[in-house]
Amino acid sequence: MTESRSRVGFLVAGERVQGSGTPFSSVDPATGEVNYEVAAAGAEDVARCVEAAQEAVARPGWRDMRPHERARILSAIADGIVAKADDLAAIQRRENGKVLAECRTQVASAAATFRYYAGVCETTGSEVTPSRGDYLSMTTYEPVGVVAAITPWNSPLTMEAQKIAPALAAGNAVIVKPSEVTPTAAIAVAEIALAAGLPPGLLNVLTGTGTETGVPLVRHPGVRMVSFTGGTETGRAIAQIAAGRLIPAALELGGKSPHIVFADADLDRAAAAVQDGIFEGSGQSCVAGSRLFVERKALDRMVALMRERATSLKVGMPLAPDSRMGPLASFRQRETVERFVQSARDEGGEIIAGGARPDDAALAAGAFYLPTLIGGLDGSARVVREEIFGPVLCILPFDDEEDLIAQANGTAFGLASGIWTSDVTRALRIARRIEAGTVWINTYKQLSIATPFGGYKDSGLGREKGIGGMRLYQQAKSIYLGG
Ligand code: NAD
Repeated sequence: MTESRSRVGFLVAGERVQGSGTPFSSVDPATGEVNYEVAAAGAEDVARCVEAAQEAVARPGWRDMRPHERARILSAIADGIVAKADDLAAIQRRENGKVLAECRTQVASAAATFRYYAGVCETTGSEVTPSRGDYLSMTTYEPVGVVAAITPWNSPLTMEAQKIAPALAAGNAVIVKPSEVTPTAAIAVAEIALAAGLPPGLLNVLTGTGTETGVPLVRHPGVRMVSFTGGTETGRAIAQIAAGRLIPAALELGGKSPHIVFADADLDRAAAAVQDGIFEGSGQSCVAGSRLFVERKALDRMVALMRERATSLKVGMPLAPDSRMGPLASFRQRETVERFVQSARDEGGEIIAGGARPDDAALAAGAFYLPTLIGGLDGSARVVREEIFGPVLCILPFDDEEDLIAQANGTAFGLASGIWTSDVTRALRIARRIEAGTVWINTYKQLSIATPFGGYKDSGLGREKGIGGMRLYQQAKSIYLGG
């Protein structure tokens, strides 16, 4: 139960643990250098952690704590995150290569999430439902118990805060299993929470792979709910285990979001939003607008605008102040992107921009890839159908609204979408027909913690954020009191 100098231990009941799993390396994708070795939790560590979380949540205290007291601790965690903003931004930058400005935004978003759920926890209580005069019916909300929160590597701080804060606000204990690509941000947040007064055992972190650590966690009978963000196939595998155990699984999965531009839109503004929508985070965003649909009469102009933007976007080291796009989060992810771009070439696609690693010796050791635009393909091409999770935008023309809706809805995914037009009636008409959990009109990637977020179709089940984001982690109990 010690913290080895050379290996980062995970966190169970407030203690750093070296664990019995297979240790792994955290690698800086901008340089290829090893950041540190990280301990991994094996099945017995998982069992010990679940027991510690069960004990913590069963102790009188957390689940019965007055909401304003629980809210005070959540606010103190938010303060702690703000106080450690530079450290947290640096962790994210060295583990997944995001440029510094994006890392700072992620930290601010994590703090805002804890603050928001402090408020929700304090103000959202039981309900008395209308009933006849001879009885009173009340609905109270109880925590589910121990929640497993399994997260991806693209935006660890934001994704983890989005699960930890509402699950704690709801009175649960949480075990985070972060991605092995970004293992330590969750540990840092859990230590901030301990310092903020959260009793040990209520927020634990188990590092390791999905197979060695994630699977035993989801299978453990003490885990009463899984909250997962990640790839669709992983989500399906987790949902199958959860279904067998009859426990809820909230799933935030992949996307292939359509970004739609009509000829009557402000094309310059639209182009700027399309650029950020796909190239922010090197395209490794679940809501990346990765399919650009342009009304045919504006196609040439929009392609020219996008080519200009893609070829001038500054790709560089995450710490360089002028860098707008860093590397992919891992060398493996760059290989995935390269395979997709090759498949586009094989299927007859036109590489309008990028399609290669940067020709820059200063970036040669990192997992960099140029912002890439692909044209000349339709919805049957792999690169148009499947999630790439990289800086690759497919550009497709449409002729009329029927054609647009058929193409835009023509994937298995349904996470987000964007519409640019000066005709608001048309925008709302299309918004109603798009199969996606979020539709942005004349904006993109605007996200509010108070607004429900989640996917249609293969993009997920359930909605995070908002008041419902706390209710996800509770069960309703209805009590009837006779007169
Ligand atoms: P992933 O599915 O490979 O892994 C996600 C997490 O699940 C990791 O912690 C991993 O170790 C764990 N895991 C893997 N196999 C497991 C198993 N069988 N049982 C339990 N845990 C397992 O995803 P990723 O590559 O880390 O992230 C990229 C994916 O996440 C993309 O598809 C992206 O769209 C999606 N994503 C979705 C959202 C959203 O809100 N909808 C947000 C961010 C990312």
